[in-house]
Amino acid sequence: MKLFLGLIIFFIHVVFIAQAQRLCGTSGYTQKLILNEPSLKSSFDIAEAQIAAVTKKTNAARDTSTNEIIYIPVVIHILYKSADQNLSAAQVQSQMVILNNDYSNLNADKLNIPAVFATRAADSRIRFCLAQVDPQGKRTTGIVRKYTTANNFSAEDAMKFSTQGGDDAWDSKRYLNLWVCNMAGRTLGYSSVPGGPANVDGVVIGYDVFGTGSNVRSPFNKGRTATHEIGHWLGLKHVWGDAICGTDEVDDTPTQQYYNYGCPGFPHITNCSPDGNGDMFMNFMDFTDDACMNLFTNGQKMRMRALFAKNNLRNSFLLSFACDSTLVQGGVLPGADTVTTTPAKESFVVKVYPNPARAMITVECKRQSNTVAKTITIFNVLGNKLFSASLNAENTIINIAHFSKGVYILRIEEGSNKFTTKIIKE
Ligand SMILES: [Zn+2]
Repeated sequence: MKLFLGLIIFFIHVVFIAQAQRLCGTSGYTQKLILNEPSLKSSFDIAEAQIAAVTKKTNAARDTSTNEIIYIPVVIHILYKSADQNLSAAQVQSQMVILNNDYSNLNADKLNIPAVFATRAADSRIRFCLAQVDPQGKRTTGIVRKYTTANNFSAEDAMKFSTQGGDDAWDSKRYLNLWVCNMAGRTLGYSSVPGGPANVDGVVIGYDVFGTGSNVRSPFNKGRTATHEIGHWLGLKHVWGDAICGTDEVDDTPTQQYYNYGCPGFPHITNCSPDGNGDMFMNFMDFTDDACMNLFTNGQKMRMRALFAKNNLRNSFLLSFACDSTLVQGGVLPGADTVTTTPAKESFVVKVYPNPARAMITVECKRQSNTVAKTITIFNVLGNKLFSASLNAENTIINIAHFSKGVYILRIEEGSNKFTTKIIKE
């Protein structure tokens, strides 16, 4: 009887530990994709080669000028069957705050980073906004709510298709699609990795581990599941490389034997620890509890940002305007460089080229009627005005050769009419 009771207690203990462990579906999902469609393997390899081409350069050859803030417009597809799954806008907002804190190394718990790792903590200079403009150029809250008859979803992409009880992705070249739904089993979430099919590109998070607050499941109640999964979307691997003493292709995360869960004490030394500091179990790409994780490293930052380099997979996001609500006026298509606005009084067509540019840009502004003078202004991403002039001719040529490399905002104003576009100085 005693043995029997002991076994029961042991069993309960094992189940409890298992339920309390983080489970990310990304590796299994990626393997299954390749199994079903072997040609995808080369597509993933190309993405990896793109990242490596940027990160493997010597420090001297690395382009340090491309540290401009990268804005990622996010569309949240909320799939709900019961009211509690239909998360409030405030709940969504709590997740956005966590994402922006974690990706800018402004999370309050960075104080817990062990001193030996503290200098490796990075501000990725990647920021997230709820999309302000939808693919049709209409104003949006960035949240799409949809009732589903599905009891739950597994890591097999049904939530990404309206025909399967989910909601179709928005253009994944301009938006990060994030589906929030009831996940089957213990999986907290999963992400596509760079190089996957465009129509399933994005991140999936369980509704009960999304955002912060009292209705989120402990110990995954600090929004770190989304921080972790978006890390995968940005090309990061698990810190143990999904293998015993494997590699995550990042040189400032120490080799570690396997994943960690719960919250180990520091240092946690395993068989392949390179030194007495042991595992970086507090990295967002380990499996520890939300309250235990607190950093991305400089090496991880470089991997993430490599995807946005010229000709690389997520480069199109540098031209995604969906974070900018002023583009809603006139039904402007995000990302388009040729735009027709249709304000009440007057229409005009704007073209800005070349973009990206090294020196001269031409701003072409054709008016269909000719009344009010237009002002053209260029701001940097901090909102500082760098150039301002009135636009008299149809074509205005502006020299931006003296600008630092990076992203700028060009705005044309005509009374209450505004046209805004991003320009990139190469
Ligand atoms: Zn993961």
